[in-house]
Amino acid sequence: MDFYQPSLGHQFINGYQVQGQGPTLPRISPATGEELLEVDTATDEQVDQAVKAAATAFPSWSTLTPGERSDHLLAFARELQLHADELAAVETSQTGKSIRMSTEFDVPGSIDNVNFFAGAARNLQGLAAGDYAGNTTSMIRREAIGVIGSISPWNYPLQMAAWKILPAIAAGNTIVLKPSELTPGTSVLFAKAAIDAGLPAGVINVVLGDGPRVGSALVRHPLVKMTSFTGSTAVGLKIMSMAAERGNRVHLELGGKAPFVVFDDADIEAAAHGAVAGSTINSGQDCTAATRAYVHSSVFKKFTSRVAELMDAMVVSDPTDPDTDMGSLISEAHLDKVAAMVQRAEDSGAKVLAGGRREERPGFYYRPTLLVGAKQDSEIVQQEVFGPVLVALPFDSDDEAIELANDTPYGLAASAWTKNVDRAMRASAQIQAGCVWINEHILIVSDMPHGGYKASGMGKDMSQYSFDEYTNVKHVMLSHDPAAHRDWQDTVFKQR
Ligand code: NAD
Repeated sequence: MDFYQPSLGHQFINGYQVQGQGPTLPRISPATGEELLEVDTATDEQVDQAVKAAATAFPSWSTLTPGERSDHLLAFARELQLHADELAAVETSQTGKSIRMSTEFDVPGSIDNVNFFAGAARNLQGLAAGDYAGNTTSMIRREAIGVIGSISPWNYPLQMAAWKILPAIAAGNTIVLKPSELTPGTSVLFAKAAIDAGLPAGVINVVLGDGPRVGSALVRHPLVKMTSFTGSTAVGLKIMSMAAERGNRVHLELGGKAPFVVFDDADIEAAAHGAVAGSTINSGQDCTAATRAYVHSSVFKKFTSRVAELMDAMVVSDPTDPDTDMGSLISEAHLDKVAAMVQRAEDSGAKVLAGGRREERPGFYYRPTLLVGAKQDSEIVQQEVFGPVLVALPFDSDDEAIELANDTPYGLAASAWTKNVDRAMRASAQIQAGCVWINEHILIVSDMPHGGYKASGMGKDMSQYSFDEYTNVKHVMLSHDPAAHRDWQDTVFKQR
């Protein structure tokens, strides 16, 4: 493992992996409950150094041609590919997710994101030049914003690093990323691969530490021109008010509570498989996870029995074992939170059809869980659990299904299961979410946008649409009017 040397520290500032001078944080292995490593953290001074390194790198990085930036990103993707196995191993070790997830989803997805933005960098689109006011021509310049301060969560550390970093730097910005203090490893590796691939020092920097101290120092730094954040809605709102102190731009990817609507004409076997994969992916710690299944009452029993059967057959075990379907949750505190929410649901009358208990082994494991009998306005239906917990509720009419699907503060993702094209089109139009899958749930592609409605945030990750967050659009108007006094100026002063 010469690629990654944790002993060097966890910050990546101006092209170097350095030891943080702030307090260290012990990190417990989610898979075993034993101490994994001591994570060093940045001081305010080191946050300042990282932001200044990004600010220094900005003028030359932002004025490279798109083709030159694209070449750098292609080299970056190749470097990441060389270290794919190691990235997957570190991702599983720090999160407790199954090695199949890291190897088949997180690492290839992140590398694909780098490759996508290598292409997208050469395709920053704007309006064609047009003559809108007589003897003038208008054109659009899309310009990089400057230093982006970015903050990411622990559930998909590598993919979130990619989603935050790639559109920002492809558009010509430079970045300082603060990953979750729980999962620093692959973000540091990501920055290191970029340097090894020849990206200029300072384009990507990583600082580590807790949110209130290091995160807010980054958001409030005077040279940071925009904050892009992925995490909980509660913290996102704090970020928004901190950024508002200086009128800075924010891009927020926040929590979710995705509905999963099964109409009576759906392929129930496909819907059951979709529900199990969609609710247990990443141990349910996925912002787009299927969390609320609304199922037509005529197929409710058939659907829930099959989901329970499939959940009960899942292997919840050592994440490094390729036969494991689902690894651990991220921490003991999070496991306790998930277990307590299920318990409160049961205490309020919900019934457990599958799981509803911890997996008895060292580490922080919880069985895939299916609940029925909860009320629409109960905590388990309204609040994010962020664990492998699906609640199923019956409905009787299409209108009711759509109304229930929209009845939470969130709006990140949703799915509808039907063979009827009218229903499919209606659900996709009427469900208030940034993504609506039809007869699918969870699948994402770098080419398409990801982002929320309502309390799930604002702005888009991935795809060409993410450039709207990371660029300023400038109107340039050029006059080719031969007259010294232009006709429109008569409104202001007449030529005499
Ligand atoms: P979190 O909000 O607790 O933390 C996210 C990040 O914010 C971490 O790096 C943390 O250190 C930092 N932070 C915390 N307090 C801060 C503060 N006061 N100032 C600055 N930074 C601060 O979220 P989490 O528990 O790490 O992740 C889970 C959440 O992320 C869930 O709500 C999930 O839905 C959401 N999420 C959303 C998306 C999306 O694309 N919409 C993707 C992944 C995760």
